[in-house]
Amino acid sequence: MSWDIVVIGAGPVGLCFARALAGSGLRIAVLEQQPGSALENPEDDGREIALTHRSHRLLHDYGLWPHIADEHIAPLRDALVLDGDDENDSGLLFSHLESGQSQLGWLVSNHAIRRAAWQALQAENAGDVAIIDNARVTHVEANEHGARVRLADGREFSAALLVAADSRFSESRRALGIRADFLDFGRSMLLVRMRHEVPHQSVSWEWFGYGQTLALLPLHDAHTSSVVLTLTRAELDTLLAMEEEHFNADIARRFAGRLGAMQRISACRQYPLVGVYPERFYATRFALIGDAAVGMHPVTAHGFNFGLLSVDALARRILDALAHGEPIWHARLLADFDAEHRAATRPLYLATSLIARLYSDERAPAKALRKLALGAGRLAKPFRQMVMHGLTHPDEDMPLGGLRKLAMRLRPH
Ligand SMILES: Cc1cc2nc3c(=O)[nH]c(=O)nc-3n(C[C@H](O)[C@H](O)[C@H](O)COP(=O)(O)OP(=O)(O)OC[C@H]3O[C@@H](n4cnc5c(N)ncnc54)[C@H](O)[C@@H]3O)c2cc1C
Repeated sequence: MSWDIVVIGAGPVGLCFARALAGSGLRIAVLEQQPGSALENPEDDGREIALTHRSHRLLHDYGLWPHIADEHIAPLRDALVLDGDDENDSGLLFSHLESGQSQLGWLVSNHAIRRAAWQALQAENAGDVAIIDNARVTHVEANEHGARVRLADGREFSAALLVAADSRFSESRRALGIRADFLDFGRSMLLVRMRHEVPHQSVSWEWFGYGQTLALLPLHDAHTSSVVLTLTRAELDTLLAMEEEHFNADIARRFAGRLGAMQRISACRQYPLVGVYPERFYATRFALIGDAAVGMHPVTAHGFNFGLLSVDALARRILDALAHGEPIWHARLLADFDAEHRAATRPLYLATSLIARLYSDERAPAKALRKLALGAGRLAKPFRQMVMHGLTHPDEDMPLGGLRKLAMRLRPH
């Protein structure tokens, strides 16, 4: 069967990409290995996605936002960063008051985003998009004549352009020979929803303690948060083997009692921490989006935000080519997409990897540097404002977006 675009992967990014192009007249097939029931009613995977104002706008533009129930949306008013074990440390606060907005962003459950993307695609104007479930892609090829994929069950699809949204471990990226840097942080993240005595006041925490990193993501209910704990796999296994009562007490202790008594109210989920950055985001008639393009460490909460940027950057160019009667797979189009997305993501990808390494290093010089960096951030209001402008401006694509724009202007054409 022949299509204009075949997308591999109906994760949140693959679905948003299809939604961004729905109604354009392009015939799009989205191939997903999971059954349709898992797309229609995605399982709660414990992830709470922190969204910037730009992502919020894009989710509105793609028609997803009205499909997300209020109970899955929480305002993110301020963000607090703490370092070390000093319980009296007031930390570095990114306050919405300095941003000129009523909140820094939103926290939305990942499964609610996935479901909303599915529902938005069921809308009548999305009739030219086919989501094909139980479709595991096992073979891909792409050359100047077109792209072709084969499924595990032998079915074949050909397209003018192939777009991979098949996760940070993308098999199609590897099949088409695109090298990628993998960074294994040697740690895993535990995600669990907990009720706590002291209200969260819509403030998120990132606490780089010694021997652990803790995050608190405030949810819809003032006494419920998602707790994200980063430890070694072995340490997490020990924690997970604890009786309920001891587990609850252990988490409350890790927060130094600042939230009062705590109680687990969800299953625990674990994710290994691996960052991925490929040498390029395209090949002949082939493009990478979402985590297949940039696999972020979650500490700066930017993976899906970057995924939406890749959707916007590629879909915009495809619609522009259509409007001018040009091919949607042109090498120049794909190279421009690559340049824009690289400039938008590379600085924060590198900064995130650096932060993740520095703030898990407990040697004396690193500890001193950690304190110094946080202290400097506390003193430098312009720095805080620049970071918050990136988060809260609906047209800004990353915390240091001004620098990106300068880099784009200076890059050789
Ligand atoms: C713990 C954690 C917390 C996070 N927090 C945040 C946050 O606060 N803010 C933020 O912006 N981001 C966050 N992220 C990142 C965010 O979850 C990801 O960026 C996002 O889910 C990526 O979506 P995707 O569609 O690109 O990939 P995925 O969600 O990985 O989806 C890929 C899809 O492709 C399918 N697939 C794979 N291979 C094949 C194949 N061969 N054939 C057919 N189908 C295939 C899979 O079944 C899957 O459905 C977090 C991630 C983690 C792990």
